[in-house]
Amino acid sequence: MDIVPIPAFADNYIWMLVDSASADPSGPRACVVVDPGEAAPVEATLLRENLTLNAILITHHHADHTGGIAALTQHRNIPVYGPATEAIAGVTHALVEGDEVSLDSVRSKHGEVCKLRVMEIPGHTRGHIAYVGDGFVLCGDTLFAAGCGRLFEGTPAQMHASLQRLAALPPETLVYCTHEYTLSNLKFALSVEPDNDALVTRSFDDRATRGQGAPTVPTTIARELATNPFLRCDQSGIRAQAERHAGTSLHNVVDVFASIRAQKDVFH
Ligand code: ZN
Ligand code: FE
Repeated sequence: MDIVPIPAFADNYIWMLVDSASADPSGPRACVVVDPGEAAPVEATLLRENLTLNAILITHHHADHTGGIAALTQHRNIPVYGPATEAIAGVTHALVEGDEVSLDSVRSKHGEVCKLRVMEIPGHTRGHIAYVGDGFVLCGDTLFAAGCGRLFEGTPAQMHASLQRLAALPPETLVYCTHEYTLSNLKFALSVEPDNDALVTRSFDDRATRGQGAPTVPTTIARELATNPFLRCDQSGIRAQAERHAGTSLHNVVDVFASIRAQKDVFH
């Protein structure tokens, strides 16, 4: 299976999971899209690459993740998977923690069907879910490269717990988030942790990547653990920065997380 980005809006990626095991290499290949905020770039890609859309996966209810569902399903009878606890027009399969989604038409080169496990990761929205596959995670607007989603509906404690669950995935796990926010996230991360060598190196690398017009996503859990301040609230340097900013001592990692998340909200 290949996972490729379809750029949408200013900075969204609609991830496309493409079958690698088609018997007829010249025939149309099956694919699945994740969080299609708009339909037009998806339709253009299907046409250009000779692909058949077989399912849609949704991580949460925001319009920039769901806006394309109606148009994409108007002339297709395909399953649309999404979180059970959010009202999303067009979702046909409501998912909860631990559910498995079997994408029968999307297979590896060796013919193994793509199976995804559902993880509930509230915080950005109350019902946000992630799809965990073999070696990768589709995590919507929860964990970003060098950052995390805003707390629109959930509490800092919920978001922190959700990020910790993602952080506990194997370090080599590829992280497919929905936005290319990496460079601005890195600027903020450096303001929190200026002496983190891994972060300084990453900033050079990711700026070079963007300079060539390439995506900085996917990232990996290992890279995020080393450089993402929102996964590093237990580090003394980050705690000290958060305490300086709060003007008081902070007694647990959730308070540190809440402080740096609040700082990021007003960071330019
Ligand atoms: Zn969102
Ligand atoms: Fe979004």
